[in-house]
Amino acid sequence: MSELRDDFDRRIDYLRLSITDRCNLRCVYCMPPEGVVPSTHKEILRYEEIIRIVGIAAGLGVRKVRLTGGEPLTRKNVSFLVASLKKIPGIRDLSMTTNGTLLERHAQELADAGLDRVNVSVDSFDPGRYRQITRGGSLDAVMRGIAAAGKAGLRPVKINMVPMRGVNDDEALEFAGLTLSSDLHVRFIEFMPSGDNGYWSPERYISTEELKKIIAALGPLVPVRIRKNGPSRYFRIGGAKGVVGFISAITHHFCSACNRLRLTADGKLRPCLFSETEIDLKAALRSGGPDDEIARLIRLAIKAKPEGHAMGDTVSRRGPLAVGGGKKRPMAKIGG
Ligand code: SAM
Ligand code: SF4
Repeated sequence: MSELRDDFDRRIDYLRLSITDRCNLRCVYCMPPEGVVPSTHKEILRYEEIIRIVGIAAGLGVRKVRLTGGEPLTRKNVSFLVASLKKIPGIRDLSMTTNGTLLERHAQELADAGLDRVNVSVDSFDPGRYRQITRGGSLDAVMRGIAAAGKAGLRPVKINMVPMRGVNDDEALEFAGLTLSSDLHVRFIEFMPSGDNGYWSPERYISTEELKKIIAALGPLVPVRIRKNGPSRYFRIGGAKGVVGFISAITHHFCSACNRLRLTADGKLRPCLFSETEIDLKAALRSGGPDDEIARLIRLAIKAKPEGHAMGDTVSRRGPLAVGGGKKRPMAKIGG
């Protein structure tokens, strides 16, 4: 069976697909208040184009696919895409990252179509604070979405939280505490400079190490090995049912375990979240490029994966390095 390895001997088997750059929320850390100008219908990849790319990537060695965005559930008929991707030989794991606001109504059909799991982003369990962080979102809808996902068998449901000092860091213990009695995975994502919305600051940033010390108040964090977890590091608190995870994009453990490529909604392959390099698959597809040409471009993207980034060196000052590299594209435009 084929496999893809980059120049630093990392196995690349994970493709994150942004299926839209539209979103029904405006999270303070991700978007400017007015949102980002969404791509037009014509600019974004059609489902059949996405399916073709994933088919070729699977032939080369991609095994895991995640649908993300923007908010993936704002795109019509996502279940059709899920069912089509699920049929591709070689794809063993199909998941989605969502803000959860539309999940209640879609969870069952997504599970029936073959989605394996969901990650739901929630940054506060206080409805007013949640509304502030997301600039208008309803926590109630998200909680119903999480319950519906569990009921539909999209397990384990993973909760993504971005801790920010003075914003929601006082809830970190409550989030981690959820894993004591439920099989949830709670993942803390280091706050990254993203886009040009000016929200990131060294004062708001909290490192994984600091967070771990806070969470250790619940009990010792015992490392757990979860197969192919890429850059996330997982721990169990004492005899907890669930696990806590840390995605330390800024400090460490990230680049050396990086197993992924990203495809933007407008058809650009991005070898690294923190670099500007993009390889245009859409142009090749729409000019009638054969499968061999698409495969060549995918290999080229893997060749372009840098060994790492120097983000950790820049966190104490507002350094130039940010998600999207110099272009500072917001996460919603890249596919977080
Ligand atoms: N809309 C979906 C959602 O919110 O889950 C999927 C797209 S969103 C860009 C994917 C993930 O990126 C979310 O978990 C979000 O919290 C995270 N994210 C966005 N901007 C971020 C930032 N500046 N730092 C860290 N994580 C960020
Ligand atoms: Fe939308 Fe997700 Fe960005 Fe929030 S983090 S604005 S939900 S894309």
